[in-house]
Parts: sequence; C-alpha cells; structure tokens
Amino acid sequence: MRAALLGALLACAAACGGGSTPAGQSPAGPSPTAASTRVLVVTHTDGFHHSSIPVAETTIEQLGRTSGLYATSFCRTADEVRRMLTASALASVDAVVFANTTGNLGVPDLPAFLDWVASGRGFVGIHSALDTYRDARIYLDMVGNEFDTHGDQAEVEAVVESAAHPAVAHLGARYRVFDEIYRFVRNNRAAVTPLLTLDRFPRDGLPRAGEPADLPLAWVKAHGAGRVFYTALGHREELWRDPVYQQHVLGGIRAVLGR
Ligand SMILES: [Zn+2]
Repeated sequence: MRAALLGALLACAAACGGGSTPAGQSPAGPSPTAASTRVLVVTHTDGFHHSSIPVAETTIEQLGRTSGLYATSFCRTADEVRRMLTASALASVDAVVFANTTGNLGVPDLPAFLDWVASGRGFVGIHSALDTYRDARIYLDMVGNEFDTHGDQAEVEAVVESAAHPAVAHLGARYRVFDEIYRFVRNNRAAVTPLLTLDRFPRDGLPRAGEPADLPLAWVKAHGAGRVFYTALGHREELWRDPVYQQHVLGGIRAVLGR
C-alpha cells in the first residue's frame, strides 16, 4: 500500500499543478474512491488564528486527491459552521477534520455533532483542535485530553508508539520535529492508543525542560462506533510543507476512515 501511495504521489508531482481545488469542484482525474469518500475540513477560528491554516487546507486537499482516498470540502466561517456542521448536512460526510480551529466554533448542536461521530464517522483534531471548546467537557472527552500550555517552539524527539499505525509507521522508532509543543492536563496513556509521546519535557523555556517525562503528543481512540485521531503537531507552516508530517496527517485521516 505504501508503494502504491508513493507511486500516486510521484504521478501527481508530475501531473498536478500547485494550489487547491475549490470546494465542490471536481479535480482532474479523481479516483472512484475519492469521489465517494468525503472529508470536511473545518478551519474556523474564534480565538488565535494560525498563519498555517491556508497551507493546512491546501495540504489536506492535495493528500486526499493524490492518494485517491477522499475528496475534500471546507468549512471556514461561523456561518458555514452553522450550515455545515449539522447532522443533516453531514449525512454524506465520512470524516471531519478540525485543522487549527480555536475557541467556541458555534456548532449549532454540539452533542448532536458528537453523536454523529459516535455513529461511526471519523474525527481528526490537529494542533489547536484542543484549543477549541475548552469549556465543553463532552468535546474534550471525545478528543481525549485537555490543553494545558505551551512554551517556545522547540525541537523534540518524539517516541513512536503503535509503530504499525499508518500515522506513524513511516517514522521509525523516533520522530525529530520542530514545532510548538503542546502540554496537556492529563497523561491519557490508559484511555487512548498512543502514537507519539515525549519521554522528556521539551526545551521550550518552561520549567522541567529536559527532565524525564511521559507526555502525550498524538493518539487514536474510539468514540462510540466512531474513530478519533489527534495530533498536537501542526502549528508551523514549514511543518505542513514537510512530506514526513504530511504522511502523519494522511495516515491519521486514513485511520479514521477505516482504510
Ligand atoms: Zn499553535
């Protein structure tokens, strides 16, 4: 499968131009799978707005198109959240990605949205998806943790756990990455399937830098019959352009789609 994916990526590098396809418009040469599997990328913010959001949108759309795994549409504004994140509007959507969302997004019926995930759909949370709905316990429980704080951007060497999982299978035993490193309220190791953890506190200017630790960084979990993938990585624009990180994101989307 990885060889086939690489082939698809190489073929696209030759055949596909840059830039994203506008939502709802059929890209050139879609596979039947891409046409039938739909991923909705939510990038509305009610707080800090990451400058990496445009490259995140472009990257997720291109990953779906070049892999043939899914077709992407976008939900970018408060009005679009009100219209697109309802149970009826999501009827034909297979997975939702919260890509650097922040704050209270204004989902019309948050319990109904979480029930939609629990009915067997996929949810992907990236980076500040856990700086989103910080006062909504049901949402935090679905994603699987609670943002605490972060310090300066730092290089970390994440420990790869569950090494066969498609989000981390390409990384080897450790993943060296430079980004804004979130710290969470809880060690959620017992409640989720960890994919990336830190065995040392990041050297980010906060207390305990470099000391031994066991900190969550990326994981998968169930939500009813639905699947959840969360990665704390994804603050920096440069990271979104890194093929190694892109494979991490694509593997997570693949996992929540059950592929
Ligand atoms: Zn950030």
